[in-house]
Amino acid sequence: MPSTLSLAEAHALVAGILAANGCGERQARVVAEAVVAAERDGATSHGFFRLPGYVADLANGWVDGRAEPVVEDAVPGLVRVDAANGYAQVALADGRDRFVAKARTQGIAALAIRNSHHFAALWTDVEPLAEAGLVAFAFGNGRSRVVPFGGGRRLFGTNPMAFACPRRNGPPMVWDQASSMMAHGEVMLAAMHGKPIPEGAGFDAAGRPTTAADAVLAGGALGPFGGYKGSAIALMVELMGGALTGGDLGFEDRSGAFLGAQSSSAGEYLLAIDPARSGGGAFLDRTEALFQRLIRDGARLPGDRRYVNRARALAEGIRIEPEQLDALKRLRASSG
Ligand code: NDP
Repeated sequence: MPSTLSLAEAHALVAGILAANGCGERQARVVAEAVVAAERDGATSHGFFRLPGYVADLANGWVDGRAEPVVEDAVPGLVRVDAANGYAQVALADGRDRFVAKARTQGIAALAIRNSHHFAALWTDVEPLAEAGLVAFAFGNGRSRVVPFGGGRRLFGTNPMAFACPRRNGPPMVWDQASSMMAHGEVMLAAMHGKPIPEGAGFDAAGRPTTAADAVLAGGALGPFGGYKGSAIALMVELMGGALTGGDLGFEDRSGAFLGAQSSSAGEYLLAIDPARSGGGAFLDRTEALFQRLIRDGARLPGDRRYVNRARALAEGIRIEPEQLDALKRLRASSG
């Protein structure tokens, strides 16, 4: 019979696990917000399930859980943050106010985070910007897991990108997706549940197409979404997240020296746009008309599945199986 955690209890548990395993208290609280938000919204591939990975990265010294990011007001349109080998969420939290102020003053601004680890769902980074009235993009890169279209070996990360747009009434429209056909976390979940992955999503260690999630995880690779077009987008995200920030590119990943490391010291590039400045005063009405037409025609907005799950979790709490709760409590007691 599943147990239920309130959001506050879930946050305290996750922050406690991170703090017990090498994170500073402040850093643990920030990262825990992203983990709990994912669990709350039913994005389980980036929720509680990822905590053993966070703990492994902290325990083997690959990630500095106490890192204090260095924020640099680079030029009028750009804030740069050196995450100092810590989590990207902490770097974003520290650079965010200046970034948002620049976007409001100038109509558009960028935030470039480097030397950072991102292990979470990317929508957690852009949704708050749209809640503050800004249109936002985020691009993140990671260690090589994806074979470019027509290529012979892993080169790109699973490279997520996210987009958020404010709405007049109600939560923002947000989409967020890996540039691989499947996110790595989804492959891990499929392996855990013994489920096959879709045809074309993965390759085994010998480069043969496979539907076995285990074979992908055992030295195999993923394919990009959308054939050569998706491959071009994965390349763009690699450039935005890695090259444009000064973070490591996927093939420059240095995590191999750290046993069990799960993330790479990569980068994240965010853009924020004030829609009133570029789209005029009717922006929210015009976008709403578009959204309503889409919904009327039978489609749904990306992000709406999460919002349904969120409403349920806010009313009823987060359900968790007893085995998973015990495992999390053991992690909290493990101290690295
Ligand atoms: P999905 O394929 O599950 O979803 C991608 C997007 O499509 C979501 O915004 C989703 O909205 C939307 N969507 C799905 N179905 C529909 C539909 N029928 N109609 C309209 N919209 C739809 O995501 P991925 O598996 O590609 O990625 C999962 C997560 O993995 C992401 O959060 C990503 O950030 C994360 N990730 C993180 C990485 C990292 O390094 N930190 C690396 C790679 C991925 P909805 O949520 O409402 O279903």
